[in-house]
Amino acid sequence: MAKMRAAVVAGPKAPFEMVERDIPEPGPGRVRIKVHACGICHSDSLTKEGTFPLVRYPRVPGHEVVGVVDAVGSGVARWAAGQRVGVGWHGGNCGFCDACRRGDFFACQTFTEITGITYDGGYAEYMVARAEALALVPDELSPVEAAPLMCAGVTTFNCLRHSGARPGELVAVLGLGGLGHLGVQFAAKAGYRTVAIARGKDKEPLARQLGARYYIDSQAHDPAAELRDLGGARVILATVTNGGAMAAAVGGLGANGTLMVIGGAGPLTVFPGQLIGGRLAVKGWYSGTSIDSEETLAFSVLEGVRSMNEVFPLERVAEAYDRMLSGRARFRVVLTLREG
Ligand SMILES: [Zn+2]
Ligand SMILES: [Zn+2]
Repeated sequence: MAKMRAAVVAGPKAPFEMVERDIPEPGPGRVRIKVHACGICHSDSLTKEGTFPLVRYPRVPGHEVVGVVDAVGSGVARWAAGQRVGVGWHGGNCGFCDACRRGDFFACQTFTEITGITYDGGYAEYMVARAEALALVPDELSPVEAAPLMCAGVTTFNCLRHSGARPGELVAVLGLGGLGHLGVQFAAKAGYRTVAIARGKDKEPLARQLGARYYIDSQAHDPAAELRDLGGARVILATVTNGGAMAAAVGGLGANGTLMVIGGAGPLTVFPGQLIGGRLAVKGWYSGTSIDSEETLAFSVLEGVRSMNEVFPLERVAEAYDRMLSGRARFRVVLTLREG
């Protein structure tokens, strides 16, 4: 049987082990992908550190996967060997439960399939995914360019386009890291008056280069007061991992404004009076399904949105993961594998 290399986590907090495994066969409704690149997302720490109840071990993490279809299981329509595809966090859905019948595939009640969590992900030469989880990757994007768009990209893009903000309205992106540097680009290209909020004056040139019209240094200024001076934000896209920083920005929402939360953080305290008086909302957003990913990739090609990446070969997965976890990466970390 043909073998492949994979980076495996044996249990909670276990180190990455490079192992040789049989190349998996795609069962019914599944597709095998030869992986070319896989982004390292902060959520991979759920698998690595064992902080998520659905993880089963041993597990290969990775839900920012890009490669080519290598083999197709029975009962799969549309996909064929040789197509360039990606897989994100959304690992599949049943299509027949009440949630799926309403089009809420993210809330599928039959099973919660999450790539790299409930089945093996992209830190390997090959992986098998459910067919409905696949997104077509356009030729214009290299594997390294496309990979971070499969989670960080689709999460920010899909959140913004469902936020209720219309072109010309004030949209603030809180945080300028892996998610935020994409959020600013998507917001600017979508036609919003885009505000970037980050700590320190030194991030301003980058924020403006990414398309921000305004920059707020949250160390030197109160972001809520600054946003009110600009007329109040229709939407604040909260990408930071700090509930206190999110709470400090809520006062910058204009009437009917919404704080869209995509950063995993500790408790977030908001005052009911604040919400009531401004008819404000605080809302979480799930990344998206495969068609959302496909549309994220298409928009990125159309408008020139690109993630800034640090690239490591799969063999250096431990170092690459630590780099992501340090928060010092500029801005996403991507693993590469041999193509061909
Ligand atoms: Zn992710
Ligand atoms: Zn379902």
